[in-house]
Amino acid sequence: MEVRVLGSYGSRVPGHQTSCFLVDRRLAIDAGGLTGMLQMQEQIAIDHVLISHAHLDHIYDLAFLVDNVMTARHQPLRIWAPEQVLAMLRQHLFNDQIWPDMSSIQVNGCPVMELCPLFPGQINQVGPYQVRWEKTAHPVFSAGYLVSDEQVAILYTGDTTTTDALWTLGRQSERLALLFAEASFPNCMVDLARQTGHLTPLLLAEELQKLDRPELPVKIYHMKPQYIEEISRELMDLNANYQILQGNETYQL
Ligand SMILES: [Zn+2]
Ligand SMILES: [Zn+2]
Repeated sequence: MEVRVLGSYGSRVPGHQTSCFLVDRRLAIDAGGLTGMLQMQEQIAIDHVLISHAHLDHIYDLAFLVDNVMTARHQPLRIWAPEQVLAMLRQHLFNDQIWPDMSSIQVNGCPVMELCPLFPGQINQVGPYQVRWEKTAHPVFSAGYLVSDEQVAILYTGDTTTTDALWTLGRQSERLALLFAEASFPNCMVDLARQTGHLTPLLLAEELQKLDRPELPVKIYHMKPQYIEEISRELMDLNANYQILQGNETYQL
């Protein structure tokens, strides 16, 4: 499995894209940096997008991706999420007001986009990948994902404050090879982090004890750009093995 980091920040300033990861050039996890980072041919090659939740920083490029590729593809672009998240996309984004309802538009007899539900408590087959999810603790309905192929699995927290179910999901995966975890605010802003459903470095370190995989590589994303130096320093003080993602890293698992 190849995983490329396209966006790793909790907001946008020049050179900083929001949450977005690309698996084997075919499956995107969140859509914060797709059209901002990928050339047109790379965008056309994406078959599936997993969305953790409907907050703008995670869906930002969905509208432009569908628009860019709709006449170049021969099968629908499939957007996958729990039904609660898909309902928000239908109501608030692809609602024929903010953006066209792309699922009702056909090119050469084929819908340009499909919204596909991911069911709870079971393995969902998404192309060649097995996807499981658990609800995380965030102000809107949000999922964290375990994405597996035949060899390895990655765990993606999405946005969350403290949670148990997602860490249990990861702990139960024997193939788990890499964790992408959020840390949005510095430790001194723990109240703001809790109010907005996010983690600080200290909260993350406590959460990782639940995962109980001390050898697992941990890649940190969703830092708010204005606090990046403080968050980085605090993460390094906790564990020098944490890697703070800057965007455009690629991992071969
Ligand atoms: Zn969010
Ligand atoms: Zn976010």
